[in-house]
Amino acid sequence: MSNSTIGLDQKLREYLLTYSLKEHEALKNLRADTLKLNEYEMQISPEQGSFLAFLVSIINAKRTLDIGVFTGYSSLVVALALPNDGIVTACDTNVDWTDIAQKYWKMASVNDKIDLHIAPAIETLDGLIDKGFEGAYDFSFIDADKINYQEYFEKSLALVRKGGIIAIDNVLWGGRVLDSSDSEPATRAIQKFNKKLYKDHRVEITMIPIGDGLTLARKL
Ligand code: CA
Repeated sequence: MSNSTIGLDQKLREYLLTYSLKEHEALKNLRADTLKLNEYEMQISPEQGSFLAFLVSIINAKRTLDIGVFTGYSSLVVALALPNDGIVTACDTNVDWTDIAQKYWKMASVNDKIDLHIAPAIETLDGLIDKGFEGAYDFSFIDADKINYQEYFEKSLALVRKGGIIAIDNVLWGGRVLDSSDSEPATRAIQKFNKKLYKDHRVEITMIPIGDGLTLARKL
């Protein structure tokens, strides 16, 4: 929902970007291209991208999941941070968006590190579990339809190793998580997901106010 960071004024955010962001040319161009779409707010913020890249580096990730590709920023920023034999398993159903994604993955020469599956993510994730990839992943980024967040989390939890990290986007949902009268299914789903995750003893969590709110869950 947010391509900025919630609660950070524009000037301070510019400062943060000026003194932290070292964005690859392909990421820059992809961001500019995505701004032309009506759905541009679905793209993660660049500071969030840089955070994800940092995260996969410090856990020495090799195998990662990207659930909800959109125009490919998160897959690209993670692929750039992975070693040469690293792989991003990318899940989305929208060909128009992922066509844009693939153009920039090629531009950055990381397209061979990204394995795109055009299918409902639950099918792709179940397929990986059936093929014996349980515990084989180091990292999962969940940023697809909010209604299925719990399912994406359960599949990710099966696929990541002990100590692996699941990052879940839009957990503050533009502040709408506070509104108990908000009956929109996506809002209800996020509220329910956050409450359930807080009590989930299979992971330890931290919720970070970056972008539209990002929860990190580490598999115990
Ligand atoms: Ca998002």
